[in-house]
Amino acid sequence: MSAKVSAAIQQWQDCHLCPHHCGAARATAAGVCRVGQQSFIASEMLHMGEEAILRPAHAIFFSGCTATCTFCTAAKFAFRPTYGVAVTPAQLAHRIGQRQAEGARSLCFIGGDPAPHIPFILQTLDVMGSARQIPAVFNSNFYLTDVALDLLDGAIDIYLPDLKFGPAVGAASCGERVGGMPDYWRVVTGSIARLYSEGKQLLVRHLLMPGHFECCTLPVLTWLGQHPGIQVSLLTQYVAPAHARGELADALAAADVQRAQVLAHELGLTLVK
Ligand code: SF4
Ligand SMILES: [Zn+2]
Repeated sequence: MSAKVSAAIQQWQDCHLCPHHCGAARATAAGVCRVGQQSFIASEMLHMGEEAILRPAHAIFFSGCTATCTFCTAAKFAFRPTYGVAVTPAQLAHRIGQRQAEGARSLCFIGGDPAPHIPFILQTLDVMGSARQIPAVFNSNFYLTDVALDLLDGAIDIYLPDLKFGPAVGAASCGERVGGMPDYWRVVTGSIARLYSEGKQLLVRHLLMPGHFECCTLPVLTWLGQHPGIQVSLLTQYVAPAHARGELADALAAADVQRAQVLAHELGLTLVK
């Protein structure tokens, strides 16, 4: 076992992989995410819906999440950490090898959120060793600590942060009220900025949400414009789930999509599809 994997497994005793900082939570699955020491996989597949540089992607959807977005379309497994199948790192490594042979061009760890599963991800990559020939992608809400980023360093090739919410702070902010992530903006932009300064490959996704142009889309795109070279993917396919409430139960306005595209162009963002 590598030193990195040993360090990651320590998080099971005293978890600080995200800013909820639950401490000794994982053995009893008592952290905010309620993910225990066993990772459950909701589904895995060759996925054609990712950006062109990734597809076909071997997408691995972990159960459990560090956020509680009120409009989550993956709630059935994001909020049920024991949904799906419990596998060992060796079993998942075997499946990754199969998907690679089937033509996967990237290996995408998704959720829910993959952050609580970092020990399992590192164990799996360790088992695969040089048998893995495709880039490992970490697709996350990026509500991460430096502990998590340190563990991922050297194991992940491409980072896919979802930068959703704007810079307001406090209980009424979008990041906390809608996403359940206190101090969202400082944490998430801080994590992205760290990797940007380290020259890591970043592809930042921004999901347009109905009623959130001024508070979220405008500051997010403006911030991205201050970081030249970051690849940006604008997600414009918002579909309100049945449990969405308030403005998030509405359809996304075509005018907001157009405004975002014009703004992205004006800011000189590097857009990818
Ligand atoms: S990943 Fe975050 S929410 Fe889950 S136990 Fe660790 S610190 Fe808590
Ligand atoms: Zn907002």
